[in-house]
Amino acid sequence: MEKRTYRSSGAAVSLLGLGCMRLPKVSPDKEDIDLAAAQEMVDYAYAHGVNYFDTAYVYHGGTSERFIGPALKKYPRDSYLLATKMPGWDLTCREDAVKIFEEQLANCQVDYFDFYLCHSLSESNYRKYKDLGVIDYLDEQKKAGRIRRLGFSFHATLPILEEVLTWYPWDFAQIQLNYLDWTAQKAKEQYEILTSRGLPVIVMEPVRGGALADPCPESNRIFQEAAPGRSPASWAIRYAASLPGVLTVLSGMSNMEQLRDNVATMEAFSPLSPVDHAVVEKALEAYKRHVTIPCTGCRYCMDCPAGVDIPLMFKLYNEYAVTREKGDYKKALAQAPEGALMHSCVACGVCMSHCPQSIRIPEELAKIRDKVDSWKK
Ligand code: SF4
Ligand code: SF4
Repeated sequence: MEKRTYRSSGAAVSLLGLGCMRLPKVSPDKEDIDLAAAQEMVDYAYAHGVNYFDTAYVYHGGTSERFIGPALKKYPRDSYLLATKMPGWDLTCREDAVKIFEEQLANCQVDYFDFYLCHSLSESNYRKYKDLGVIDYLDEQKKAGRIRRLGFSFHATLPILEEVLTWYPWDFAQIQLNYLDWTAQKAKEQYEILTSRGLPVIVMEPVRGGALADPCPESNRIFQEAAPGRSPASWAIRYAASLPGVLTVLSGMSNMEQLRDNVATMEAFSPLSPVDHAVVEKALEAYKRHVTIPCTGCRYCMDCPAGVDIPLMFKLYNEYAVTREKGDYKKALAQAPEGALMHSCVACGVCMSHCPQSIRIPEELAKIRDKVDSWKK
């Protein structure tokens, strides 16, 4: 596994990091982690040189930290790097941050975090971290050795990024970067701002919540013709990892097949050549011809008080947008849990402020609903 060095004399970080947001689950409609299957993935990753494990207070309904800490316990503490995040949107005062941070150490059964992030800085929450004194508190924890490196994950505009960078001498930043978001979500500009300041970049969503693992039949064909046997996900992972200044690429893997594929990509890592970049561009153009909703399935918008399974509704619609298989789409909707359909949305707007992709959720749900209803007429 290729390793990259954190700044000049820091830790050696595996180029692939195991994201603990989409671990295998006991059942698709619950957040409960399948502990045995997830442990097998952690052990496989560790055995193959993955040493960066990324969790968060909110992942898997709050159980991801409680899984990954014990799962890594059998390995020497200095042989892996553990990252977790403070959920700014849940904070009302500095004391909330104190309570959550202590709980996180207990959840993970560790004395310190190697990387710690202010989670998901967005337009609606980013000021809280500063105004509530959370950054000051986290800096104290860093000085006390309970945080080794302090950074943030980001989902807001470029002016906000510039502003946040003036607040604190951050140690790293985590951004959503993949070949679609390079232009669609201004990942290019974010990357350039961060690297121009010498900040190591951690990449999240390199496969865009799984969408780029199977973008569309035409894109898949373009990738297959260019390199038979290589998965579309491997192209997406290599795209992110090829950028200088990227420290690690986090992939939220859900099964052994995805893990083996990503490990194989990073064990024999080769940066994209100019010819490879042209292949990615061609596949991207094919993908962009389908109008999809830019949902990554992160589930930050959940739970919806009206019972809508928002990420499921967007996932099923996006699958339809690519395949245009109405029958399959209607069948999948019929199999969704009762009350989970877009029809249950009462447009309260509660979900919107939580969406890092700034999706106008009620509007998109209404559009999908109207489209599906029009088929009945
Ligand atoms: S706007 Fe609709 S989907 Fe969002 S929380 Fe309200 S009812 Fe649920
Ligand atoms: S709608 Fe937004 S918050 Fe909800 S799962 Fe999709 S990307 Fe995440």
